Amino acid sequence: MEKTTQMYEGKAKKVFATDNPDYCIVSYKDDATAFNGLKKGTILGKGAINNRVTNHLMRLLEKNGVPTHLVEELNDRETLVKKVSIVPLEVIVRNIAAGSLSKRLGLPEGVKMGSTVLEYCYKNDDLGDPMVNEYHILAMGWATKEELDLIASYSFKVNQVLSDYLKEANIELIDFKLEFGKTKDGQIVLADEISPDTCRFWDSTTHEKLDKDRFRRDLGGVEDAYQEIMRRLLGENV
Ligand code: UDP
Repeated sequence: MEKTTQMYEGKAKKVFATDNPDYCIVSYKDDATAFNGLKKGTILGKGAINNRVTNHLMRLLEKNGVPTHLVEELNDRETLVKKVSIVPLEVIVRNIAAGSLSKRLGLPEGVKMGSTVLEYCYKNDDLGDPMVNEYHILAMGWATKEELDLIASYSFKVNQVLSDYLKEANIELIDFKLEFGKTKDGQIVLADEISPDTCRFWDSTTHEKLDKDRFRRDLGGVEDAYQEIMRRLLGENV
């Protein structure tokens, strides 16, 4: 399939149309932003790492019964995906308190909660991705009840599969963000990415942060953390 026109450029990825209207090509960038675009920078090698880590984890999820948009990795930075209409939600899954939840509820980072927490945010940069609940989602027509139930059950499944898999690599899955899309035949599939940009990964032993918090909080060693995730999951460097 041939790349044609650029459809969209986001903060971390570009999306291109192809000569087949059912498929797109995603191209991962090294650009990094945080705090709704207020902080900007570059993380060298990030695009290639996020592309490969995302595809690796999506293949694992597919094997475990979670449908995804992934079709084929084309090269270092580019992947062929099914064209979907994105459900305008960020689905956040949390195992351990961190980030905005710690702030909101006054829980120190690292506190294990009694059970997994699911949150929804409305994907809208101008509004700063406000948190919403199931009633808002149904009332606004962003998803149907059936679609939302499926999104929630896939999200818990993703958490279980990834938490178990990452544990083997001595990585603790603290929290992460998912996005779902709808294919032209109405199937709900996991879309977007699963990477150190969208997950909190802590070393299980040292609790060292191996994710975008190193960039957000100016902790240094940003590139090394992304490389380390790549190495632990795919056993190689880029
Ligand atoms: N997250 C994301 N994109 C967003 C907001 C959050 O990928 O726009 C991820 C983030 O990396 C973390 C989880 O979702 O793994 C929970 O983020 P949180 O709500 O704590 O927000 P943050 O502290 O990152 O602002």
